[in-house]
Amino acid sequence: MTMMKKPLSQKPISRRDFGRMLAGGGTAVGGLVGAGMSLAPVTARAQQLRIADAKATPSICPFCAVGCATLIHTVEGRVVNIEGDARSPISEGTLCPKGAAIFQLHVNPNRPTQVLHRAPGAADWEVWDLERAMTRVAELTKKTRDETFIERLADGKQVNCTTSIFSLGGATLDNEWNHIHQKLMRGLGVVPIENQARI
Ligand code: SF4
Repeated sequence: MTMMKKPLSQKPISRRDFGRMLAGGGTAVGGLVGAGMSLAPVTARAQQLRIADAKATPSICPFCAVGCATLIHTVEGRVVNIEGDARSPISEGTLCPKGAAIFQLHVNPNRPTQVLHRAPGAADWEVWDLERAMTRVAELTKKTRDETFIERLADGKQVNCTTSIFSLGGATLDNEWNHIHQKLMRGLGVVPIENQARI
């Protein structure tokens, strides 16, 4: 015997219904939440199980100068969880939304893992290996620096700089990287150096 599926209700969803669906993810869990049941113990237990046999390594959120502390949980070298470290006098275990999403910085199937190059005038991207890309960046940096380096101004004042290269760093660059990066840029004579992180 063939079972007929019950047709979906054609009744329009009210704003109130929509809010309830969002609160519960549209599942039976949503019904429990809607009924006022706290899922905190269940969530905490699930989290405990996830990190039960994991190794916890203290670290620092790389995103901004606040420097909130994190605990990175790994199982056989694989990151399984990242959360705030309650021992930190700075953040006391809390992370802002950006910091709370650090896990996705490491584990994210949408993250590009290849160097993409689009030649001047080209419509399509070409995959380059990292060695080739780094060599190209180094060549262009040296060429630009050599062609635009100013040793002295017209009045004879020594400046040793180039104003044709600008360094813009991302927020995920850590303290150590920024230190080395700034030394390299200053050594090349680059004046404008900007970074969102701790520099
Ligand atoms: S990005 Fe957020 S979690 Fe990370 S250090 Fe800054 S305030 Fe803390």
